[in-house]
Amino acid sequence: MGGLDDLYQELILDHYRRRRGEGSLEEPSVAVDQHNPLCGDEIHLELQIDDGVVSAVRHTGDGCSISQASASMMSVAIEGRTLPEALDLVEHFRLMMHGDVAGDEERLGDAIALEGVAKYPVRIKCALLGWMAAKDAILTHEAGVSGPTSEEG
Ligand code: ZN
Repeated sequence: MGGLDDLYQELILDHYRRRRGEGSLEEPSVAVDQHNPLCGDEIHLELQIDDGVVSAVRHTGDGCSISQASASMMSVAIEGRTLPEALDLVEHFRLMMHGDVAGDEERLGDAIALEGVAKYPVRIKCALLGWMAAKDAILTHEAGVSGPTSEEG
């Protein structure tokens, strides 16, 4: 990752070494697993959702520094946000990683450090893993809250 800005590289390593939001919740509202087979990255993500707000984010996992640092940054970025805000932010991050938009540092926080990873196509899935898990968790939760719409069994 020699092409990354030094400051951003430091931030990524810092999140990798001291993962924010690492751990588990007693009674998560929703829990999902995501896997990046290209790199072997794994994340188990748990969200506590109260009154439409992501009130707590916890994750465990294993994989490369980009994937785990990104999950740490994601957990800080979406905690305290409403579900629509969190989904918006995930989409913004996804577009940034595909080089479609410039990152909004105010909304992304430390996750802005991953913008440079967009230059490394093989690592984009690593960076996206935690964020896609967050989207999956929120959509899963919303599907559950709105009630089963399809026949069961
Ligand atoms: Zn990876």
